[in-house]
Amino acid sequence: MVFGSKSELRKITSLHFYAALCDFCGCCVAVCPVDCIELEEAKLTVDLTVCTLCGNCPRACPVGALTGEAA
Ligand code: SF4
Ligand code: SF4
Repeated sequence: MVFGSKSELRKITSLHFYAALCDFCGCCVAVCPVDCIELEEAKLTVDLTVCTLCGNCPRACPVGALTGEAA
């Protein structure tokens, strides 16, 4: 398997955001391929109508504020 392609294959079936854990670091915003995570001051919004459940943001979140169940 080509190293680096693995994460793209690991999609998720659902995405959950736990606002109380988020420290607004912006890591999730940086890895979203469809730009559906918006970070404004101390508010994070995920547009689930656009999200492709790629799984990038739960893998990138350092505090577990975004979680997803593996597909
Ligand atoms: S799962 Fe992927 S597409 Fe959905 S919000 Fe996270 S990074 Fe964006
Ligand atoms: S990566 Fe996690 S802690 Fe950082 S802004 Fe996103 S949800 Fe919040």
